[in-house]
Amino acid sequence: MPSGQLDFIPAVGTADFTPRQARLLALANRLGRERFAARAATWDREASFPFANYDDLRETGLLALCVPEAFGGEGADFATYCMVGAEIGRFCGATALTYNMHICSTMWTGTLSDGIEMTPGQRAEHETRRALHFARVVRDGAVYAQPFSEGSAAAAGKAPFGTTARKVEGGWVLNGRKIFASLSGAADYYGILCTEDRGDQHPDMRDTLYIAVPGKADGLTVTGEWDPMGMRGTVSRTLLLKDVFVPDQEQLMPRGVYYRAAQTWPAMFFTLSPTYLGVAQAAYDFTVQYLRGEVPGQPPVKRRMYPTKQIAVAQMRIQLESMRSIFWRVIHEARPNPSKDERLRLYAAHYTVMEGANDIARLAIRTCGGQSMLKDLPLERLYRDSRCGALMLPWTAELILDRMGRETLYESGERDE
Ligand SMILES: Cc1cc2nc3c(=O)[nH]c(=O)nc-3n(C[C@H](O)[C@H](O)[C@H](O)COP(=O)(O)OP(=O)(O)OC[C@H]3O[C@@H](n4cnc5c(N)ncnc54)[C@H](O)[C@@H]3O)c2cc1C
Repeated sequence: MPSGQLDFIPAVGTADFTPRQARLLALANRLGRERFAARAATWDREASFPFANYDDLRETGLLALCVPEAFGGEGADFATYCMVGAEIGRFCGATALTYNMHICSTMWTGTLSDGIEMTPGQRAEHETRRALHFARVVRDGAVYAQPFSEGSAAAAGKAPFGTTARKVEGGWVLNGRKIFASLSGAADYYGILCTEDRGDQHPDMRDTLYIAVPGKADGLTVTGEWDPMGMRGTVSRTLLLKDVFVPDQEQLMPRGVYYRAAQTWPAMFFTLSPTYLGVAQAAYDFTVQYLRGEVPGQPPVKRRMYPTKQIAVAQMRIQLESMRSIFWRVIHEARPNPSKDERLRLYAAHYTVMEGANDIARLAIRTCGGQSMLKDLPLERLYRDSRCGALMLPWTAELILDRMGRETLYESGERDE
């Protein structure tokens, strides 16, 4: 499909898309409209994982979106993933958020790793191991999770991960606990961030390892309840790892490379944003339909003639447009070693989307009124889902303010006497 020939307006807005982007956006929109939207209430009500959506993502090749073409994938770059993620989020937030975790496992080992310095030995090792990992996704339709959080300062990027990996003959032995592991019980592999246990008492963030643990590995268990306010279909329960052995080939990045990636490629943490831009778009779409009396299955009562409603819709659109603009700019600026100005803009974009999504959903409910928050309509789910974005580490809304203020006022290495 030639660029500019989409017959809908994507969540990222209209733009001069490449033919590949237009094709992928059209696919995501079709799946979302025809399949994901109708199923979203069920995953939310049951707090169950959207397996049927994953069958569709697998069947249409979208699980391999960011697998490089040389390995049989779509070869989508960072910006293209962000566009597709937002389009999926428009129809099912939980699917988009879990899809992000899966996509990161292929993007971090794919295009992101390509931009990270490695020795020739590390590069060769990485090529061999990622070939295996990409083949699982492309050939077998495997799904990867991204358990990162531990309830400590580690997921905020301020301390080493407490989950450890000890080198043994032929592989690694992992021990630890991950909280909020989206896709728990559903993923074929869990990409675990952990610290190499070197046998001393000084764990170091530079020793972070990124290792895939098969869902069926001995010693891996999924525990805990999952009955949250929003993003219920992510099924983000707790993972316990007790002496889990995995062979060397499961190392998703060579030693030291994850730490370098986190330092040099800050946009890797921006990938949670597309989901919430999609949720914001959905709240806006619903509001326009509702006020025009065009929501399917609802009486055709129009509410658009009241000036206060018109003003609220205008405010929502203004906020949505500013979210889209900064989103669009930073997804195209994303690169290793961004300038200070680019890095601050990236934080600002993440904050704008995460807080803005909830603002738009809040305005949507206030404007549409009482009947719009009944459970048979999607708005109250969008409102609950939209609340989750700003809580997600490492870039919670609070931590972004913290980083932005500090990094604006202090140059690297500067201290007060
Ligand atoms: C729906 C959903 C799905 C998720 N899926 C995943 C997943 O797949 N993988 C994954 O790894 N995580 C996932 N998370 C977890 C998420 O990224 C956070 O780790 C989690 O929400 C943190 O919760 P907490 O209360 O333990 O945070 P805490 O660490 O207790 O932090 C509470 C707040 O304090 C602030 N804070 C924390 N540390 C610092 C600090 N050092 N300095 C200043 N302020 C700080 C932050 O603003 C934070 O929001 C998910 C979360 C949600 C809500």
